[in-house]
Amino acid sequence: MHGAAYWLTLIIGLAGIVVTLALAGRRIQFLTKLFRSGQPDPERTLQVRREPKAAVEGQAVEVLGQKKLLKWTVAGAAHFAVMWAFFLLATVYLEAGVQLIFGLEAHIPFIQTWGPIGFVQDTIALACLLGLATFAAIRIKQSPKKLGRKSRFKGSHTGGAWVILFMIFNVIWTMFFFRGIEAARDELTYGKAAYASWLSGRPFTGLSDGTLNWLESVGLLLHIGVALVFLVIVVNSKHLHIFIAPLNVMFKRRPDGLGAAQPMMSKGKPLDFEEADPDEDTFGRGKIEDFTWKGYLDMATCTECGRCQSQCPAWNTGKPLSPKMLVLELRDHAFAKAPYMLASEEEKEKFTDEQKLAMQVDKELVGDDGVIHPDVLWSCTNCGACVEQCPVDIEHIDHILDMRRFQVMIESSFPSEAGVMLKNLENKGNPWGMSEMKRLEWIEELDFEVEVVDEKLPEDTEYLFWVGCAGALEDRAKKTTKATAELLHIAGVKFAVLGPMEACTGDPARRLGMEFVFQMLGQQNVETLNEAGAKKIVATCPHCFNTLANEYPQIGGNYEVVHHTQLLAHLVEEGKLTPINPIEENITYHDPCFLGRHNKVYKQPRDIMATVPGVKTQEMHRHKDRGFCCGAGGARMWMEERIGKRINTERVDEALETNPDTVSTACPFCLVMLGDAINEKKNEGAAKETLEVVDVSQLLIRSVKGEKEPAPAE
Ligand code: SF4
Ligand code: SF4
Repeated sequence: MHGAAYWLTLIIGLAGIVVTLALAGRRIQFLTKLFRSGQPDPERTLQVRREPKAAVEGQAVEVLGQKKLLKWTVAGAAHFAVMWAFFLLATVYLEAGVQLIFGLEAHIPFIQTWGPIGFVQDTIALACLLGLATFAAIRIKQSPKKLGRKSRFKGSHTGGAWVILFMIFNVIWTMFFFRGIEAARDELTYGKAAYASWLSGRPFTGLSDGTLNWLESVGLLLHIGVALVFLVIVVNSKHLHIFIAPLNVMFKRRPDGLGAAQPMMSKGKPLDFEEADPDEDTFGRGKIEDFTWKGYLDMATCTECGRCQSQCPAWNTGKPLSPKMLVLELRDHAFAKAPYMLASEEEKEKFTDEQKLAMQVDKELVGDDGVIHPDVLWSCTNCGACVEQCPVDIEHIDHILDMRRFQVMIESSFPSEAGVMLKNLENKGNPWGMSEMKRLEWIEELDFEVEVVDEKLPEDTEYLFWVGCAGALEDRAKKTTKATAELLHIAGVKFAVLGPMEACTGDPARRLGMEFVFQMLGQQNVETLNEAGAKKIVATCPHCFNTLANEYPQIGGNYEVVHHTQLLAHLVEEGKLTPINPIEENITYHDPCFLGRHNKVYKQPRDIMATVPGVKTQEMHRHKDRGFCCGAGGARMWMEERIGKRINTERVDEALETNPDTVSTACPFCLVMLGDAINEKKNEGAAKETLEVVDVSQLLIRSVKGEKEPAPAE
């Protein structure tokens, strides 16, 4: 026979569960409806079916293994403990459920008497407490009130985060409380193996059976009650990520949301510009309803951790763009507008003006008074630091690019300076608007012959050397082109160039949002390359490299593409290039974003420098996957930088901290941006006159040949 304590506990517990399930269920139903209302994105589900192993690996490595979070050791370890406590302490809730229904003395046969389980439960609960203390310390240290923009929590809902920490703390102490009472009653089936629970029961030994019985009932109800309140808070807050982050990881764009920009999609299919109808099709994202279900999932999954913001070059130099706030602003707008989006046409007509105002029905997506300010949208360099760092795989760049596409292609609204670049691309096939014949001029400065393709590549050609617009037309980048050509020549690699047949890959147009011009140039280049019979391509520009390798397959161009640093490192390793002349210099290497983060080439440029005798390398504070952009990507090269500190100046300030003789890099745009900033520093007297920025190929040729630069022809 059960007593009054049992019945009261059972009634209160069951009532709480029913109310909670109703409240949480309603919210989950709303969220499901919202996600389902997004535009279709069939590729996301198809890729999971095509590569189930990769999907499972993603869950194992990123969700269970917390790989991305652990890149930030202390915060990552704390999150690891709290997340595993969430999984493992679900077993305590299972036990609590059994005790609620069958009485305090009930337990799960065989399992709930096995000491190691109790030991693991107590240990992870203590680890969780340690994790909570660490989170609290980080939040105090990183308080936006103290650090302002420097805090990664600036713009996050910090109050909500403290509530969550408090709720998790409640889960833990109530667990120890009710299990401690159980231990005091000598009813804790794990015995002393559940050491922390057993110890928490010590102060209660000696109380009467009746008192302990009531105390345990109260403890059990508190423990269950905390979880129920927590569940309602979670589904209504950023902590929703507990449930949906695994989905976001599962459906992320493989392999990591970086590299290729995605084709423009409308109704789940690539947009065909010849057939497209601006009234029927979506051209990028012009309103929140244009986002796909994966876009909504991204917005809802953001944990507001601010890792993306802390790495963003735009945010770090005083621009209004924070990738975190961009996602949060989209999310808040989607939630505000959701009742309108989900309403039937009939219901929509019944909404009053006040209701429509509250639902932000007429709020522009991008505009001075819109959800996203144009300065935010145009500040992005597409550097990928946000995507790289985001622990839940949110794809910021894809969203930014899609919003840019609507602004450029439908609204014709973009920084006017970039218009010149677009016109030049359309008319001349390069951003500077130079004559195509100028693409041959660098060859005349060499003292050996370079094969220029005339329709077909000669049979014995190993590589088509994709020179790129900067490499052919920009004076500083031409030095890289000449150094690379000469190194290939010395190593005996047969290569050919397209010369005037080469046009811009279309990268600046695409990253600006002008997909039409990208498609035009891309198709022209793919046709030229396919007709020439190109199979293997080497490129010195990481933007060309990324486009040729990762984006041209979208339009029928499939080639084996390498960056020149990869090929040169390989030639050095094979002994075909031997750096012999010492370069006694301190050199710091700047990782180009489209080579490093977007394509994971970090090692080869460093390997090349390591083989040059005398070179002493020193890493900048931010390097490799946490490298800092030069400011040129995302078509920013072609726009004025009017807000905040210049990104290239910030990067050169970091480089100067290493007291370098030379700054090296592996991208013509980084070369120009860093070179400009170094010249400014020299004018200010803040950098030594001899400081220069060079491509790693220039260092290599100097060491291989013992000359400062490739010798010009007589
Ligand atoms: S891609 Fe780079 S610049 Fe753009 S939002 Fe992300 S971190 Fe900032
Ligand atoms: S977008 Fe990702 S990295 Fe940025 S705050 Fe949200 S969860 Fe953190």
